[in-house]
Amino acid sequence: MLKTALITGGTGGIGEAICRRLAAEGYTIIINYSRSHEKAEALAKELHGTALCFDVADSKKTADAIRNAGRIDLLVNNAGISEIELFTHITPEKARRIMEVNLWGTMNCSRAVLPSMISQKSGCIINISSMWGQCGASCEVDYSASKAGIIGFTKALAKEAAPSGIRVNCIAPGFIMTEMNSRFSPEDLELIREEIPLGIFGEPRHIADAAAFLASDHAEYITGQVLAVNGGMII
Ligand code: NAP
Repeated sequence: MLKTALITGGTGGIGEAICRRLAAEGYTIIINYSRSHEKAEALAKELHGTALCFDVADSKKTADAIRNAGRIDLLVNNAGISEIELFTHITPEKARRIMEVNLWGTMNCSRAVLPSMISQKSGCIINISSMWGQCGASCEVDYSASKAGIIGFTKALAKEAAPSGIRVNCIAPGFIMTEMNSRFSPEDLELIREEIPLGIFGEPRHIADAAAFLASDHAEYITGQVLAVNGGMII
């Protein structure tokens, strides 16, 4: 049977790679985005999928959009934002927005897909956290807290949803070359690269491979786990 996957933030570096990989695996793809309309439409056309605009931080709009989208077998909660700023300097508005998009957005989308997954007695949710959610990052305190929250959310929801045949897992990417990291200077990038035991930056396809594995039957006995994809940066 054809399966449908909703990927939030499907227009970003990692999200696009996940969309492409899951489409290649045979999924019908729904690409969520909040601003990148043209990119979402072009990708949806190429992958014979659908583009779906909603702000994951808005619980009502998220619930309405997902209800109208029809059956969803796989949800990848990938939409995310970050800010590099001292905890004592970041405005409460920016800090709140990070939590609302990253953590609350993950919870909004999960809450919206779960009723139909529960009645189907099957489903899979993959949350994109971060290595900083595992070990914390200076100057990304709010981001780290949001990503640590995603790990706690994953573990708890995995327990609650397992009796309904739903698996919930988490990927904790390391440093992946995307727009999110474009603010680093070449000098900073070199210092970061030296900290990576495998000696290279991650690519979006590394996260897409991990997502495809967790979504597949090869992971049918895996739930509530955090899969670190970071070149050995955090062990
Ligand atoms: P990116 O290229 O900046 O893409 C971010 C995506 O999120 C875009 O598609 C964006 O869509 C979407 N988005 C942002 N706010 C949204 C909202 N309110 N509602 C719906 N969509 C929204 O980032 P990325 O590097 O691919 O990161 C993807 C995920 O991986 C994020 O959760 C990030 O925290 C996590 N991650 C990344 C790294 C890394 O090194 N890159 C490491 C660890 C974890 P629009 O353009 O339409 O707003």
